[in-house]
Amino acid sequence: MKIICIGRNYVDHAKELNNPLPEKPIIFMKPPTALLIDGRPFYYPDFTRDLHHEAEIVLKICKNGRHIEPQFAHTYYQEIGFGIDFTARDIQSELKKNGHPWEIAKAFDFSAPIGRFIPLEKIPDPKDIHFELTKNGVTVQKGSTASLIFPFDDLICYISRYFRLQIGDYIFTGTPAGVGPVSVGDVLVGSIEGEEVFSCDIR
Ligand code: ZN
Repeated sequence: MKIICIGRNYVDHAKELNNPLPEKPIIFMKPPTALLIDGRPFYYPDFTRDLHHEAEIVLKICKNGRHIEPQFAHTYYQEIGFGIDFTARDIQSELKKNGHPWEIAKAFDFSAPIGRFIPLEKIPDPKDIHFELTKNGVTVQKGSTASLIFPFDDLICYISRYFRLQIGDYIFTGTPAGVGPVSVGDVLVGSIEGEEVFSCDIR
């Protein structure tokens, strides 16, 4: 199983971090040890002082494939979930400045908590999925996949040119604006189309 993540896939988020808009999807990965499941708490790592939440819609891959053609891309995922791409922003900024890979800022242990998955067929419009993250009951991120720079099917095609997709892989599809710090004691709750599907306590 692998976790593939997409950077800067919403215009408003690219702008809030003063990043140029990408011409192609920006891809990075997290190892299986980054997964955090079953609503388990997240323990604030000692190597950062600026841990950020990035709320994202996650695709679960249901079919093996490579070099996937656009017309078949939608058959490779049937369920979506809500996840956080935890990012040690202080470390990431330092690495970016030096042009270094950013794994230690984004792919560390438990940096990818995910919630429960729901069938795509239950979503009214799969091209316009509304999702929201609250921190201690206050909405901090709100987005719709209608504003993705690279929609799901484009990502499937692009990723599969380089990496064979396998059943059980996850794709974190990018975060909308509103990323920000979390602190010990915070409670993060994620919802898709108003349905609560994710929660994570920061300890
Ligand atoms: Zn992200």
